[in-house]
Amino acid sequence: MKETKVTMEKILNLCKGRGFVFPGSDIYGGFANTWDFGPVGVELKNNVKKAWWKRFVQENPNAYGLDAAILMNPRVWDASGHTASFSDPKMDCRECKTRERADNLIEDYAKKHNLNVVPDNMTNEEMQNFIDEHKINCPKCGKHNWTPIRQFNLMFETSRGVTEEGTNKVYLRPETAQGEYVNFLNVQRTTRAKLPFAIAQIGKSFRNEITPGNFLFRTVEFEQMELQNFCKDENALDLYKEFKERALKFVEDLGLDGEKLRFHDHDKLAHYAKAACDIQYYFPIGWQELNGIHHRSTWDLSRHQEYSGKSMLYTDPVTNEKVLPTIIEYSIGADRLVLALLCEAYDEETLEGGETRIVMHFHPAIAPYKVAVLPLQKNLSEKAKEVYSLLAKDFMCDYDESGSIGKRYRREDEIGTPFCVTIDFDTLENNSVTIRDRDTMEQIRLPINEVSAYVSQKIKF
Ligand code: ATP
Repeated sequence: MKETKVTMEKILNLCKGRGFVFPGSDIYGGFANTWDFGPVGVELKNNVKKAWWKRFVQENPNAYGLDAAILMNPRVWDASGHTASFSDPKMDCRECKTRERADNLIEDYAKKHNLNVVPDNMTNEEMQNFIDEHKINCPKCGKHNWTPIRQFNLMFETSRGVTEEGTNKVYLRPETAQGEYVNFLNVQRTTRAKLPFAIAQIGKSFRNEITPGNFLFRTVEFEQMELQNFCKDENALDLYKEFKERALKFVEDLGLDGEKLRFHDHDKLAHYAKAACDIQYYFPIGWQELNGIHHRSTWDLSRHQEYSGKSMLYTDPVTNEKVLPTIIEYSIGADRLVLALLCEAYDEETLEGGETRIVMHFHPAIAPYKVAVLPLQKNLSEKAKEVYSLLAKDFMCDYDESGSIGKRYRREDEIGTPFCVTIDFDTLENNSVTIRDRDTMEQIRLPINEVSAYVSQKIKF
């Protein structure tokens, strides 16, 4: 592990200062727990999504993409169980009106007092008793005067229709998965896919989280990258195990340190689930879920079959056997992964001479800009712009001609640009440039027409 102490505050400051992420609705004083990705952040997040899609769709002959609507028929959420039970146990402090999640209060208390209590395994009554017995106070005002626990549904409601009376309640989807489930047979029929196959989707989800926070970690609006695997039940456990490994390998290949990753198998399972596991990452706020892998049995398709009245059965083309597929779900938050990658990449290095540089050691495949083109002097800018135009055909490039070359290198280090191409007077003579490596700071000389191939080979994922 690197020696730099990474804190959420350092990451947030860098993000705001360098254009990764800004507070949402900033000029209105922000809007709690919403964030806008800036010019550098949008490239980073897009590259993370591209890397995921490449790994799990492009390189997987049995996976098919989908982009389903965010607003779905409200019956979907009855079938999925979200209208009835997608909720958190909340309590309000009668003194200062703060709303807290009972399970979070217990979790924090247990951590502080080294107790082995898992609120996920407790009923509301047990949680209430625990909070009273241990006199767990409001973290904001310090008093102990809680309302009873009530379940708080996390779905955002909106309405659809032109007249006040004629409107219908609809929901912003709280997960992308249902889009894949309801399209299972559409995808299967049009692709002639045979089990096992997967439907992949990247898209926004919305949750009215009671206690969001910790920057991008828990927000009310976020993107999920999801692969729903449909298979015969006899193959499901093997597929589940395979996906645990593939999910881990993906984040390790992107650059997350293996020592900061671990599996967390769930003790308490949903009534229909056969197995469930998270991969946790050691964020600056401690070990937290990065993604989930769930063996969901045939529950989802059987519910949609029941609620829609349409058959969701798959017909085996060889045996003509009809089966309701089992689902192995792999789901990871794009924003949460971006946060982990920002924390992992961040480093403060002391250089010879005592100067410190902040450098983001992103895997080159996800770095916002692949190349920065830097003319050593202003009167070289014509040639530098020529080089920029050439390279911009292949990659996102930055162009910077202001300030000393040292300052420009630092700026590129802070946004994680893996290669800086400098244009000097020799460039005019012999069409060669200097390429500086972000991590080693070593420089090599290359003909201009070889730069693109050199960079392409280094940024492969
Ligand atoms: P958590 O326990 O952290 O609330 P979850 O178990 O409800 O997460 P899932 O429904 O399995 O999460 O969602 C899959 C992934 O989506 C999570 O592993 C996480 O990466 C991401 N995710 C879920 N909720 C949020 C959120 N509020 N903000 C950002 N990312 C989220």
